[in-house]
Parts: sequence; C-alpha cells; structure tokens
Amino acid sequence: MRFAPLPAAVFLLLPALLSADAARDADVARRAEALRPKLVEMRRDFHMNPELSNREERTARVVAERLRALGLDDVKTGVARHGVVALLKGGKPGPVIALRADMDALPVNETLDVPYKSRTPGVKHACGHDVHMAVQLGVAELLIQMRDRIPGTIKFIFQPAEEGAPKGEPAGARQMVAEGALDNPRPAAIFGLHTNPGLQAGQIGYAAGPMLSSADRFWVRIKGKKAHAAWPHLGIDPVVIASEAVLALQSIRSRRIDPQDPIVLTIGKIEGGDRENIIADEVRLLGTIRTLNEDTRSRIHKLMDEILAGVTSAHGAAYDLEIERQYSVTTNPEALAAATLPTIERIAGKQNVVTTKPVSGAEDFSEFQKVIPGFFYWLGVANSQRGINAALHTADYDVDEASLVVGVKVMTSIVLDTLEGRP
Ligand SMILES: [Zn+2]
Ligand SMILES: [Zn+2]
Repeated sequence: MRFAPLPAAVFLLLPALLSADAARDADVARRAEALRPKLVEMRRDFHMNPELSNREERTARVVAERLRALGLDDVKTGVARHGVVALLKGGKPGPVIALRADMDALPVNETLDVPYKSRTPGVKHACGHDVHMAVQLGVAELLIQMRDRIPGTIKFIFQPAEEGAPKGEPAGARQMVAEGALDNPRPAAIFGLHTNPGLQAGQIGYAAGPMLSSADRFWVRIKGKKAHAAWPHLGIDPVVIASEAVLALQSIRSRRIDPQDPIVLTIGKIEGGDRENIIADEVRLLGTIRTLNEDTRSRIHKLMDEILAGVTSAHGAAYDLEIERQYSVTTNPEALAAATLPTIERIAGKQNVVTTKPVSGAEDFSEFQKVIPGFFYWLGVANSQRGINAALHTADYDVDEASLVVGVKVMTSIVLDTLEGRP
C-alpha cells in the first residue's frame, strides 16, 4: 500500500492541533474539578429529597431552577409530567446532540447512616439517579462557561419515571418521546450514563451492541372451578394447573431458546385460593421476562401463550395472559460506540475503561435509541477500600462521590468531541 506524501503544512500544524486538544482537556478537567463541592452538594440534596416515579415534583423544580439560573435557553417543564428539557446553544453553528439523566427514586428504606440520608422514610435514591442529575447539571454549568467556543446545541433531558410508574400511568422516556422531547430540534445523537457499583470510581464501562435487557411484565390468570377440597373431581383445580404451568414455562429457557441467547423468565408472585378445604377458582401469576434480542422477546411471548393454552386446556381450565412491554433492549450502535470510545479512553485513561457484559437489568434509555442513535455507558462508583460496593436497588446503596467529577469530565468531553465531529 502506498501513501501520498502529506503536505508539509500538516506536519507543522499537527503539534499545534495536539496541544490545542490537550489544552482543552486540561481546561475541562480544571473546570470540572472546581465544580466538585457543588456537585457533591447537588447530589446530596437530591439524595436527601428522593421522590418516586411520576412524583418528582420537587426534583423537577430544583432542576429547572438550576438550568434557568445557569442561563440555558428554552427551559421546558412538565414534559411527561415532571420531565425537564432545556437547550444550550453554543456560540458557533453546528449539530444538535442530547444528554439524558433520569430523576426518580425507589420505594426502598435507606439503612445508611450518613449526613445526607434520605429524609423521606421508605424512599431512596437507590439507583444513583441523584448522581445522574448532579453530573448532568455539572455538565450544563461547565458547557455554559465554554459557550462561545461550542459549535452546536446541546439538549438537556431530565427524565422522570425511569423505574416504572404505577400501572396505567403514561410515564418515562416513552412518554417524553411522545410529547416531543426529541423534536424541535431533533438531536443527531443522545448520550446517557448510569452508576455501576461493580466498577470502581474512576472506571467507565461500556458495551458495543446490547448492553441492558428488554423487560416485560406479565400477568397470568388460570381459571378453574371451585369445589370442596375433598371432592376435587367436581371442580377444576387451578393450583395444580398453575404448578404445571410454572414448570412448563421454564422449559422456554431450557428447551426452546438457543442456549447462547440469554433470557430470564421469572415468576415472582403466585396467589390464589381461600383455605385448605376449598378448591380455588383461580390462581394469578406475576412475572418478568428479560432478553437481549427483540426477536427472541417476541418469540417468548408467543411460546408463553402456546404453553399456557396447552397446559390449561389439558385440564379443562381457561387462562388470560397479559404482557406489558416495559423496556426494550438498550443497544449501543457499534459505529457510535467506536466514535465515542477514543474520547472516553483519553479522558478516563485507557486502563480505566472496561468492556462489560450485557446485564439482565433494563433501562428506558432504549426508548430514545429507537428514535435516534444513542450511547449509554457505566460510571464506576464503588470504592472497595471504603467498603462502598452495595448493589443497585439495595437499602445501603451508596457511591464514592469522586465519581461525580469523572462523570462531568467524560460527558463534557463526549459532547465537545461529538459536536466538533471527532474523531
Ligand atoms: Zn433502577
Ligand atoms: Zn437506574
């Protein structure tokens, strides 16, 4: 292979370009570092005042006030109930990209004994969304400081109800998209991060391709016929049929889906019956399905229906199956992952960037990815020396707050590099 000789001017320019990059990275790092106390304060404020999905009233108010105080343009509130969308228009023309942070907490009673302990009994930021918001507000503040140099526009999306709202309430990313969060202007790409206690503060994790699973909630009702328990032949016993159904549904994992294709089918709840001497009239099952592939997901829905039809009809019973598609597979497009990785490696340090296996948890960031290319990554928050390593959604979940500055540096640099069309 032959290379055309490069003009001498390129060689003269190259060191200048490189040092300009290094100078900008140092500038971002310095500004992020200066934000450290404010980031900690914001995260702790959110942590002390957690709100459940679709109830993020105060949280949204704090976020919107902060964005207005920073001078962002067009701060919209009330998107999908408590969502906030704002624009930061750079001083130079360029593309539009979006950032997303989620805002809701969980019905978990905090057991941590820390000064910033949740002040609402039974509710806690146990999924790190307090961190996501603090980082995103930090990025907004840092980018506002650099506004004149920014070639393009950043759309800041603060999303409610990521964890799933009460049944029947429109919620989360899907509702934000439905209410136009990705329109006027339409971003070319969206970026988001999630805290990960499996990685140390300072580390970043990512996957090219599937990263988080789809999640569907399902309800099964097995309808039998009541009878005296001592005359079972006069009824149709849904307890026996439900027992067969639970086991038969597990054969989807073991016998029907390619072993190389990860899925989870869990029945988390069974209820039915009255007392020991009555054959019940119905049994209800509640469960969840996780997949990393949308075709597999649809196939499982079909197999469940077939199995339930077969098992119940074999015993003369009837059934209802209701499946709620909650979350789609969160998948990082390979091209966007490849384009973003050099920035992450440069800012976090190559040794701190790890590829992660897909997980069976789910994220509604996937709803944005259905509309525009989106890249989602893990922000390490553990500190094994200080014993900070509790799992997401647990009562003693906590983060090493050093991760806040890392998150701001990495996300700000992703924004700048993407808008400048690099690498
Ligand atoms: Zn969560
Ligand atoms: Zn979460």
